[in-house]
Amino acid sequence: MGAMSAMTLRKERAGRAVELAATLLREARAQETPAEIAQARRLARMMDDPRGKELTIALVDQAFRSRRPERIADQLSYLLHRYGTPHFMEWWERVALMLGGVMGHYLPSVIVPPIVARLRHETESLILPGEEEELQRYLAQRRRAGVRLNLNLLGEAILGEGEAARRLEAYLALMAREDVEYISVKVSSVFSQINLVAFRHTVERVKARLRVLYQQALRHHYRHPDGHLTPKFINLDMEEHRDLDLTVTAFREVLDEEEFAPLRAGVVLQAYLPESHRVQRALTAWAIERRRRGGAPIKLRIVKGANLAMERIEAAVHGWPQAPYTTKAEVDANFKRMVEYGCHPERAQAVHLGIASHNLFDVAHGLLLRAESEDESLSPIGGEGRTSSRGSPRMRRGLRS
Ligand SMILES: Cc1cc2nc3c(=O)[nH]c(=O)nc-3n(C[C@H](O)[C@H](O)[C@H](O)COP(=O)(O)OP(=O)(O)OC[C@H]3O[C@@H](n4cnc5c(N)ncnc54)[C@H](O)[C@@H]3O)c2cc1C
Repeated sequence: MGAMSAMTLRKERAGRAVELAATLLREARAQETPAEIAQARRLARMMDDPRGKELTIALVDQAFRSRRPERIADQLSYLLHRYGTPHFMEWWERVALMLGGVMGHYLPSVIVPPIVARLRHETESLILPGEEEELQRYLAQRRRAGVRLNLNLLGEAILGEGEAARRLEAYLALMAREDVEYISVKVSSVFSQINLVAFRHTVERVKARLRVLYQQALRHHYRHPDGHLTPKFINLDMEEHRDLDLTVTAFREVLDEEEFAPLRAGVVLQAYLPESHRVQRALTAWAIERRRRGGAPIKLRIVKGANLAMERIEAAVHGWPQAPYTTKAEVDANFKRMVEYGCHPERAQAVHLGIASHNLFDVAHGLLLRAESEDESLSPIGGEGRTSSRGSPRMRRGLRS
């Protein structure tokens, strides 16, 4: 295809993506319940209230940490003093919160539990309950609705090997459940002593943890609603720029071992890193070769990248240029370039492509590329919340949450 016609095709596809995004939005809105509409309005109000947003994040982050009402009351009063009461809340909620901040000191076991319960209720569309009964009910309900779930354990980088061992155990236990098909793992959550100066040593230690996880994935099978069985699926999330080579090297080297040839596993690449496209090309060439040797395909999920603030701080502290692109336009262009590259039918057979974005234009663009390449393996992912993941019926056909 000539350069001119490729350009014309992209422009024409962009126009269709805008129309499809509008249709997806209309279809998703038509299914919203009154409670979801009210919650969306409330979220929108919170986004316009920067101090309220900060307070909510701090409360959610800190109020669930302790089980002691006195400790939570103390934190609540400190945070209210620091941020003030949030404007986005209803007046009665503000009064309740203020009363909680003052009275919590005197009657913590009476005042604090309803506040924590309220916070849990507010966040339940984003964070799943970990308690056995509730989780079981939720998983069964999503399965009945035909939605496939990818579970993440909350919590980011860990500090010691004790915590790493507990995390590993928790992942193994999740995979042993018959109602869990798919989990996401952060390398930094299963190995605490990442040191890139000792690159080979670190890769070997990470590989040892990955082997344990992948062996568990092969050991336990998931029964899909139509009855067929597949090994459990593990996706490696991508975190900071410095984790890129480490994660991809460990992923490739373990999957090259004979016992893991039949395993289909996944990894994430972030389009905000300029080198991600180079890594995608190298991974694709390797995956095509692995398939030629009889191995299973891999899955590649493309995201834009969630750690921009952290990357900026890292660069400023060291006086380095930042690792990610500096403009959104460059990130968006790289994202589209990577999706287009991955949709090529021959590549897509060895590398099943997933895109994870809340941006409906990108989801629509991905759906169009999938239709053009007739690659049914491409799965756009719309988001992790309960409501957003319902999406429109059209989107749900390729949607995972
Ligand atoms: C299911 C799922 C899984 C995910 N897994 C991961 C993961 O493993 N690792 C990870 O890092 N993220 C992950 N993310 C988050 C993702 O990287 C994005 O941060 C998030 O989805 C927002 O991007 P968007 O495409 O939805 O929205 P958009 O609004 O289209 O894009 C926002 C993104 O653009 C980029 N951006 C915005 N402004 C600038 C700027 N000035 N300079 C440079 N870049 C800019 C940032 O990456 C920002 O996150 C995941 C998201 C989902 C939904």
